[in-house]
Amino acid sequence: MASLSDLPLRDDLKGAVPYGAPQDPVRYALNVNENTHPIPEAVARDIVEQLAHAVIGANRYPDREFTALREAFADYLGHDLTADHIWAANGSNEIIQHVLQAFGGPGRRVLGFPPTYSMHPIIAAGTGTEWVTAERDAEYRISPETAVAAVERHDPDLVFLCAPNNPTGTPLPVETIEAVYAATRGIVFVDEAYAEFIPAGTPSALSLLPGRERLVVSRTMSKAFAFAGVRVGYLAADPAVTDALRLVRLPYHLSALTQAAALAALRHAPEMLAMVDDIRGQRDRLVAELTALGYRAHESGANFVLFDGLTDPAATFRALRERDILIRDVGLPGALRVTAGTEEETSYFLRALADLGPGGAS
Ligand code: PMP
Repeated sequence: MASLSDLPLRDDLKGAVPYGAPQDPVRYALNVNENTHPIPEAVARDIVEQLAHAVIGANRYPDREFTALREAFADYLGHDLTADHIWAANGSNEIIQHVLQAFGGPGRRVLGFPPTYSMHPIIAAGTGTEWVTAERDAEYRISPETAVAAVERHDPDLVFLCAPNNPTGTPLPVETIEAVYAATRGIVFVDEAYAEFIPAGTPSALSLLPGRERLVVSRTMSKAFAFAGVRVGYLAADPAVTDALRLVRLPYHLSALTQAAALAALRHAPEMLAMVDDIRGQRDRLVAELTALGYRAHESGANFVLFDGLTDPAATFRALRERDILIRDVGLPGALRVTAGTEEETSYFLRALADLGPGGAS
């Protein structure tokens, strides 16, 4: 069998490492920030019915413009958005890829603030875009001053902001986004994958869209909507941005089945999102109980919590894995990240961690 080094691989991909969150079959999978609540059965039935209609027409290519779906996302988001402002793709990972294909690429650079979503630099690499970084403030925050100084230092073609941030959960004030937008000539991409979990009343970057044609706000159905397996992400931006994305997308990139399933799920948005309050409650409980166990749990506006104070995170990860629990080692010193699941899942995880003793050492 040949190895990668036998192939004429692009020089800039040599030595690169693919995304690789473990996909072990465990009872308590709390490692990739999914919504662990299943889709309500009545909603699932309706989705299946819509899929059946779509299959009958599957001899034809799907609507290349996914117009009905764009209208549904505009309605869902509000903020006076219309279908012209919306783009969708197979997960927000593909949204990121489309944006980098159109506005990044060889000779261009994207500025990010690690630790942040691990796919941002990987998709940058895949599109030949240089990934440049700047440091965050204490507690993983990014003040307007820190962000603007980084923009001035790097003069990027794109700035990636993650609100709230993965893997830290840190909320991002809209003032930072406004300041970055004013300071840069580039595209400002705000990844709001976890937006539905932010505390009620916190403004979204969507509120900044009017008059800012270089601002892009991306969302996903993978988290709050419990739809990770279907692969649907979307963005809102000036219609000129969606015109740019038409230049790089593959025609018919959203299958008729994906469009039908997403439309059906959106029609049931209230039921699909009914668990969001529950999950927020479990997240807040994680922060409180991890703190009571002696860990430092970081503030989170998402459906997961980063906690540190572990003596040996890799050993704790393995000890939990032996108890059928999968969480995430994100490579931060002394830290692990855990997804907020159902009440039962959260209780099981907290009990198992407590049993390991102080510092997570068994
Ligand atoms: N952005 C962030 C910040 C994420 O954490 C994730 C998934 N973990 C994504 C985007 C991608 O999600 P998807 O492709 O499923 O929409």
